Amino acid sequence: MRNARGRLTAELRSAREPSQVQLQRFGDFLTRTYQRKVPLHWEKDDTLHTGFRLQVGSDVYDWTLDGRVRQFTDYLRQLEPGEEELLPLMRQAASNWELSIIPEEIGEVLTVDGEIATVSGLEHAQYGEILVFASGVKGMVQELRRGELSCVLFGDGEDITAGSMVRRTHKTAGMPVGDAYLGRVVDALGVPIDGKGRIHPDTYRPIEFPAPGILDRQPVNTPMETGLLTIDSMFPIGRGQRELIIGDRQTGKTAIALDTILNQKGKDVMCVYVAIGQKTSSVAQLVENLNRRGAMDYTCVISAPASSSAALQYIAPYAGCALAEFFMYQGQDVLIVYDDLSKHAIAYRALSLLLERSPGREAYPGDVFYLHSRLLERAAHLSDERGGGSMTALPIVETQAGDVSAYIPTNIISITDGQIFLESELFFSGQRPAVNVGLSVSRVGGDAQTKAMKSSAGAIRLDLAQYREMEVFTQFSSDLDDATKRQLSYGQGLMRLLRQSQYAPLSQHQQVILLTAALHHVMQDVPLDDMDRFRAGLLSFVEEQVPDLCRRVDLTGFLPEEDREELLNLSRQFLEVFRGKHGG
Ligand code: ATP
Ligand code: MG
Repeated sequence: MRNARGRLTAELRSAREPSQVQLQRFGDFLTRTYQRKVPLHWEKDDTLHTGFRLQVGSDVYDWTLDGRVRQFTDYLRQLEPGEEELLPLMRQAASNWELSIIPEEIGEVLTVDGEIATVSGLEHAQYGEILVFASGVKGMVQELRRGELSCVLFGDGEDITAGSMVRRTHKTAGMPVGDAYLGRVVDALGVPIDGKGRIHPDTYRPIEFPAPGILDRQPVNTPMETGLLTIDSMFPIGRGQRELIIGDRQTGKTAIALDTILNQKGKDVMCVYVAIGQKTSSVAQLVENLNRRGAMDYTCVISAPASSSAALQYIAPYAGCALAEFFMYQGQDVLIVYDDLSKHAIAYRALSLLLERSPGREAYPGDVFYLHSRLLERAAHLSDERGGGSMTALPIVETQAGDVSAYIPTNIISITDGQIFLESELFFSGQRPAVNVGLSVSRVGGDAQTKAMKSSAGAIRLDLAQYREMEVFTQFSSDLDDATKRQLSYGQGLMRLLRQSQYAPLSQHQQVILLTAALHHVMQDVPLDDMDRFRAGLLSFVEEQVPDLCRRVDLTGFLPEEDREELLNLSRQFLEVFRGKHGG
């Protein structure tokens, strides 16, 4: 305690009055610890059944029974026992353990309001620090004011009462991380929620961490294949890139991310999927899907569902990012999906309003832009000196009625390296993935595309753009000349080729075969309804005829001219076979 003149005083509380000898010992302890005489006075406190609590300034020495039990439990937790050696370890711990004479900073709850608590007495607490309440609920410091602070709660505020104790942890919010997280489903604090038992982390990483600087990075130069023909051919994504997936609800946004994760099988890429504000049942379904297709082996799912506190939804993407960073800084390639950041912004807005920060555009607080930029900046392709790892980020944003000019979409578009724009109209007409070719872009992935893909995809974007233009022009005219008709049917064929069902990622050589055939008009006269059959048939025909060539394309990413000729010849041969079978 500090009295009016700022002198340090000590207050001793207990249920029973201390003896003279005890008072003498406390006095000696104070002089020794604070290097001066500290006046001590005693106050009766019936809530403390056994032992003492000594408060000096904002330092608290909790020597009550409760305090001792808590300190002993904390001590045991730090030991991180493996399951089998628990008993001997506890025995040893009990004989070695000494009561802490390190002061704790303890504050008092002033008010609790749903997801926010205000606390007094924690003078030295820092922004972002984790506090622990008497009920065990954790919170994170968000606002520091003179004499008090506000903190967001990760758990139930109903168990916290005004006047109860709060403890500092001296730790900023962090996430336990490690290889053991692969294959698991956890909440935003890293606690498993899949019922598969405890996770033994390798270490602990802060959820907020500075993004790598320019010198620690190198250009994006390796593809992150999605296995989706539309994206890999026209909007290639590179390892270390940030590519936004944006569209209205139910347009297949999650499906694209999910397929990309599935396509990383056997490619030595770790995946982190962060679900924010979703229904628990949707997340369960996604996990089930990943499991069934053997993708959980290299994936961790972090879920902060709609039913969890806004604080947990707010930190979930940062927690995911911390885990992804753990892998990246070990030299691994990582893919992280944030599904989705619109719901993240909404959770942050709810928190900010509760914290009484002044609302700005669309009632979001002014720093919502910074919220997402400091998250996405952490995606990178690290330089070789820093291990050469990478983090590719696929943030997802939901639009309302296709409006990309709303606040959150424009913000995130401006801090990513491109966007895949999905459209309801295309989706409902059966064009899935419903990628709008005109509005989508990938600004850095082109350098990462392999030579084989780049040369095969050639002018597909241009051809499609011409087709779309012509489609609009010819909509109302009935008599078209033959050249125009051919152009239109070519375009329709391309569009049909780009349709791809879920869970069926295409490997590089398959994409190369399809693109080579299509762009050389081999499929020109295949009826649209036969396209799926033609495509499947063509792939197995070529794979059977030239398995070595296919393997070579996958391995090297090169397609020499003579190989391209070979593929073309085989496609034409197959066309003859196909025509023979299906008449045409
Ligand atoms: P939400 O806004 O609810 O998050 P979303 O945009 O993430 O939706 P998805 O959940 O990925 O959309 O997909 C919506 C539905 O469309 C799902 O039932 C999914 O199985 C289906 N779907 C997505 N992509 C395809 C596809 N390529 N082929 C067939 N069905 C698809
Ligand atoms: Mg979704």
